[in-house]
Parts: sequence; structure tokens; C-alpha cells
Amino acid sequence: MSEPLLVVEKASKSFELSRGVVFSRSVGSVRAVEDVSFAIEAGQTIGLVGESGSGKSTTASLVLDLNKPSAGSIRYNGVEINRRDKEAWLEYRRSVQAVFQDPYSSLSPRMRVRDIIAEPLETTTKMSRQEIDRRVAEVVEQVGLPPDTPRLYPHEFSGGQRQRIALARALAPKPKLIVLDEPVSGLDVSMKAQVLNLLKELQESSKVAYLLISHNLADVRYLCDWMIVMYLGKIVESGPVERVFAEPLHPYTRALLSAALPHHPDHVVKEEIILVGEIPSAVNIPKGCSFNPRCTYAMPICRELVPARVGIRPQHEAACHLYPEVVAASGGTPASKEN
Ligand code: SF4
Repeated sequence: MSEPLLVVEKASKSFELSRGVVFSRSVGSVRAVEDVSFAIEAGQTIGLVGESGSGKSTTASLVLDLNKPSAGSIRYNGVEINRRDKEAWLEYRRSVQAVFQDPYSSLSPRMRVRDIIAEPLETTTKMSRQEIDRRVAEVVEQVGLPPDTPRLYPHEFSGGQRQRIALARALAPKPKLIVLDEPVSGLDVSMKAQVLNLLKELQESSKVAYLLISHNLADVRYLCDWMIVMYLGKIVESGPVERVFAEPLHPYTRALLSAALPHHPDHVVKEEIILVGEIPSAVNIPKGCSFNPRCTYAMPICRELVPARVGIRPQHEAACHLYPEVVAASGGTPASKEN
């Protein structure tokens, strides 16, 4: 069986903490993500969710090769992305694109839209100017913008249109994967619906895969096949999106879902869990389960033992001591959860 398009395996990333300006010295490190593993198949959409500080954006930066993992690996088409020759590096740059949250700051105001969209083609391909102009016109049409768009500047467009320009730029080199970092959170409701629908249509026609980073669970449910919930740099639950919505296993996921508006007025939230307090600082991670200071189910074992992430149901994993298989995999005994 061939390997998925992208495989993230036990990836961790820490950043050095330093003190002093002239004689700066290291005073330790802070964990941004730890032991993150997932795979993306061609044409699939995976949603990464969690509060800010959960590690979603650091994970995206590792996939985009903006940061190198401190441990673990990221493989694209079976090849580790940090061990590529120049050709493979260019192919990765072409094949993995990004759309960021703020269409006002992500597009250079001094460049015409033609040059913004053409940039990834000019830096990663050997296409002629005419070929690039043809491709720019093609993607402008594909994202539903008027034909005179390339000669204009970003400030001449609305927020929704700018996000379409960002999408056209990402689509120009015919990528296999687009990282969507909160792509619709700066848009009003009608623009947001249009961009989400466009993302779905583009995926159906081009079979591109998406890694969606979002704090909006309704967007994740609408776009994604698979969902990964992160808390303080670790994955706490993952599974097919409808299964996670129907039967969330981890108390953090349940709290996120009960805080979100229902997908449909007839849907009732089965169990309301209020998330109390803020996500702790990554400099001072609680012992045991890092969610324990905010968890209404916390038990003595939760303050001692880090819960391993294991399969609780088919394709559905969670890292929580409420499940005997997690206690056993974490080095405890299932009975100890009743202590
Ligand atoms: Fe709550 Fe314990 Fe589960 Fe952590 S391991 S989420 S503290 S029940």
C-alpha cells in the first residue's frame, strides 16, 4: 500500500528561552508541540482545532517547513522534507501552499494581483511569462474573480475578494495540499459562506487536500473528513469528524463542542461542560494530564500520569484516564482511576 500524501510522525517542536539583550543566555526551552502524529491522504481535509496556544499554528508551520521539528519527522510522498535535494525541495514548495487568516496583511499592497499570484510560479517553476499569465488568468476565473483582476491592486477589493486572491495564488502551482490557517475568520457571514463553498468546489474539481486550522467547529464540520483536537501542544483526540461530533471522548473536546453553537437548531448539546480558566502557559505545563486544572472529571491519577493517546473506538483515539485502556497504556492500572 502506498504511503499517504503527507505523514507527520511524532513531531515535536521546542523553542529556546533566553534572557538578556547583549549577553543573551539560554534559560531553558518551551514546548510548542509534542509527539504530534497524523497523515493526510490526497483529496482529504483534516481539521486542527483547539484554543489559541494549543499548538495548531506551530504544527502548520512545521508542515509548511517554516520551522524545523526538534524531533520526529514529516514525510511528503514518502520522503522526509528535511532530507531533500534541490529538485525535491522545489517540488515541495510547489505542492504545499498556504492561505492565511488576514487577507489585508497577507497580500503585499505594493504588488499588482498578477504579480502576487505569479510569485509561486516564478520561484518554483521554469514557466515562461506567457505561460504564467495564462495560468494567472485561469485561477482568477476558477476562484470567481473578474478577468481584469490581475492588473489591479489588493486595496481595490473587498475582504472576501482578497481571500479569493489568496486562494488563487495558492492554487496557481497546482498544489496537492493547501494549509488553510483560519481562512474565513476575518470575513463577514455571507463572505465566509461563499469562501467555504468555493473551497469545497475547488477540492471536488482539483482533488487538492486541505489542512484546516480553525477555532470554529461549524467550519470544521462543514469542510473536514477528519478532526484533530489539540491542547497545550498535544493531540488529545482524533477521529472522523462526524464520529467526534456525535460521541466526543475527551472532556476538552466535549467542552469545545458545548461552547459552540449547534450546527442546526434541532440539534441539542447532550452535555454542557463550561471551560473554566485559561489555557496554562507552555512554560509551566501542569503535571500529569495538562488539562487537569480545568477538567471537571480530574482524578488523582490525572495529576500524576500523562495519559497516552490510544484507540477507544475504531479510528477514534483519545488521551484521557476516563478510559481503562488509556490508564493501562500510560503505565497505571485501570483500577487506579477509582482512587
Ligand atoms: Fe480530565 Fe483526567 Fe481525562 Fe485529563 S485525563 S481530561 S484530567 S479526566
